[in-house]
Amino acid sequence: MFIKNVELVDTVYNPGKYPPPLKGEVAFVGRSNVGKSTLLNTLFGRKIAFVSKHPGKTRSINFYLVNSSFYMVDLPGYGYARVSKAEKKRWKELVEDYFKRRWSLKLVFLLIDGRIPPQETDEMMIAWMKDLDVPFVVVLTKIDKVKRSERAKIINVHKSVLKKYGDYTLIPYSAITKEGVDKILEIIETIFRK
Ligand code: GDP
Repeated sequence: MFIKNVELVDTVYNPGKYPPPLKGEVAFVGRSNVGKSTLLNTLFGRKIAFVSKHPGKTRSINFYLVNSSFYMVDLPGYGYARVSKAEKKRWKELVEDYFKRRWSLKLVFLLIDGRIPPQETDEMMIAWMKDLDVPFVVVLTKIDKVKRSERAKIINVHKSVLKKYGDYTLIPYSAITKEGVDKILEIIETIFRK
């Protein structure tokens, strides 16, 4: 097991104040309810990240210190319909400051629901990260819910949308079957092994 210990060390609600960078970090972002907390808990091998019963409730950037040397960062979810304009603005300011100023950020895992075609907000997120030069890979979540016969088709839809922006890695993943988990861990391990 690469991830030996995990501790939530900082919860940031306002732009600007981040913990000491240490060896750097990878971050996770996606629409509310995409399965981000579940993925983090799966990677951690224990239930630390809060699995929300109320989508749109997590409005902070949560820093999980891993192996006392690097962070896995839980960014607030987006795309939840019942969120006020002011709240959306706050989300954008918080995440934008993080993307622009957190030079120790090595890679973002952008989580997109694999059961359906990419949503407008997902594509906006892709365009935004590309624009800000934030390196990212895409994780297609809940792939266990896709019928075998539909799988190639839906993955191709996601691939063709991604292609409009560049050559990005796409990882089909499921918390149920654990498909894709090793691949995600391998990427993180490669970044922080040394
Ligand atoms: P978050 O809002 O992005 O943190 O999403 P959560 O991790 O709270 O998950 C939202 C819902 O999706 C919960 O009911 C999870 O049990 C479910 N879920 C998460 N990952 C998967 C998955 O890989 N497969 C399936 N079938 N359900 C999942």
